[in-house]
Amino acid sequence: MLLYCARLVDESQCAPTPQQREEAAALLALLTPVAKTWPSEYGLAANDIAIQVHGGYGYTRDYDVEQLYRDNRLNPIHEGTTGVQAMDLVGRKILRDTAGAVGLLTQRMEAAIAEAHPILAEEAASLRNVMRELQACQDILAQENAQAEALANATCFLRAFGHMVMGFIWLSIASSAIRRNPSPVLVQGKLAACRYFFAFEMPKVVAWLAPVAARSRLTLELQEAWL
Ligand SMILES: Cc1cc2nc3c(=O)[nH]c(=O)nc-3n(C[C@H](O)[C@H](O)[C@H](O)COP(=O)(O)OP(=O)(O)OC[C@H]3O[C@@H](n4cnc5c(N)ncnc54)[C@H](O)[C@@H]3O)c2cc1C
Repeated sequence: MLLYCARLVDESQCAPTPQQREEAAALLALLTPVAKTWPSEYGLAANDIAIQVHGGYGYTRDYDVEQLYRDNRLNPIHEGTTGVQAMDLVGRKILRDTAGAVGLLTQRMEAAIAEAHPILAEEAASLRNVMRELQACQDILAQENAQAEALANATCFLRAFGHMVMGFIWLSIASSAIRRNPSPVLVQGKLAACRYFFAFEMPKVVAWLAPVAARSRLTLELQEAWL
């Protein structure tokens, strides 16, 4: 995903036409809060699993993973905190999307679905369903007087949006690996990782979107005295 964003940086400056440069810049602005949070959250999750795999003795300074966890715990803070990136995504990038960036992302995801290799049909259908869920949720957030709830529940929305973007990336990577067939082991590895993401991670999107779509006021109405 970060390489995809890096390419958008290049295209926003060097694409042949002004329209292509503007589109790349708009897409990059939309994806920036995702690029700053998703890797910072899930890179840390990977370190966490690495500690678990090492077992009890792994949780000591004899192993690098403990150091990596501590170092990477900083990323969801100094890249701009996840909560604040989420408000940027919902408040500025989606609800005030004057550049049509959401439409551009949708077009690219639709193209990836259309070009997906036939053996990834299930994953392609799953991505389309997730796109519909996200769109329905965006429509709810755009309703009149919904802004306070939209911002209060923005982090859940960001998590769902980030997974949708990663689904798009995995579908593109796996399809490309199958078509180019660099080596059977590499293709099987990409395919397995893509399928794992869709089977084990993508179902979380529905759960994250539930309080957002319900315009939950729970955290807004919580009073400090109750805590
Ligand atoms: C080692 C390090 C290096 C840094 N380097 C730089 C640098 O080079 N340049 C730079 O500009 N900054 C830098 N920073 C600062 C960094 O950008 C800030 O730490 C970061 O933006 C978070 O701000 P904060 O600490 O005030 O946290 P806060 O804004 O107080 O946030 C605390 C928590 O509350 C959440 N939160 C805050 N507001 C809301 C809200 N309205 N609704 C819901 N949740 C909310 C946040 O998501 C977070 O979880 C660095 C920080 C560190 C630790």
